[in-house]
Amino acid sequence: MTQPGPARRSRANTDSRPASRIEQMCIERGLKMTGQRRIIARVLSESEDHPDVEELYRRAVALDADVSIATVYRTVRLLEEKGIVARRDFGEGRSRYDPTDRGQHHHLIDVDTGKVIEFEDEAHDALARDIAAKLGFELVDVRLQLFARRPEQKKPK
Ligand SMILES: [Zn+2]
Repeated sequence: MTQPGPARRSRANTDSRPASRIEQMCIERGLKMTGQRRIIARVLSESEDHPDVEELYRRAVALDADVSIATVYRTVRLLEEKGIVARRDFGEGRSRYDPTDRGQHHHLIDVDTGKVIEFEDEAHDALARDIAAKLGFELVDVRLQLFARRPEQKKPK
């Protein structure tokens, strides 16, 4: 093999794929993007659910075997500090991550299947704002979590 030329010094420079959504948010907030951070940002950008660290790690390793779980932990903590992801707790004793660019929304957790459904409810948010205002506060965040079960279907005789 020949020595790589000066233009190919860095692996990051040879990755010509455009920055993922989350990577773009990281860059806007002044985070230095290493190769592993780019991978984790891409995994989060492509996730439509609320992965925990273990799941993020599994998805990241599928893209780059060099990613370590310690790096995933450090990166999600950093992304949380920067307001790029929000940490959620759906009552399972582990944190799940939700990109903040999905906007203000709430969650319904199906207690039988563990499925998480996102929803918005302007009337609820307005009520929450009113309650905070009555107590002399300005609402900055509200998280509604509904733990619910589908009613049993009556079987026809
Ligand atoms: Zn969510």
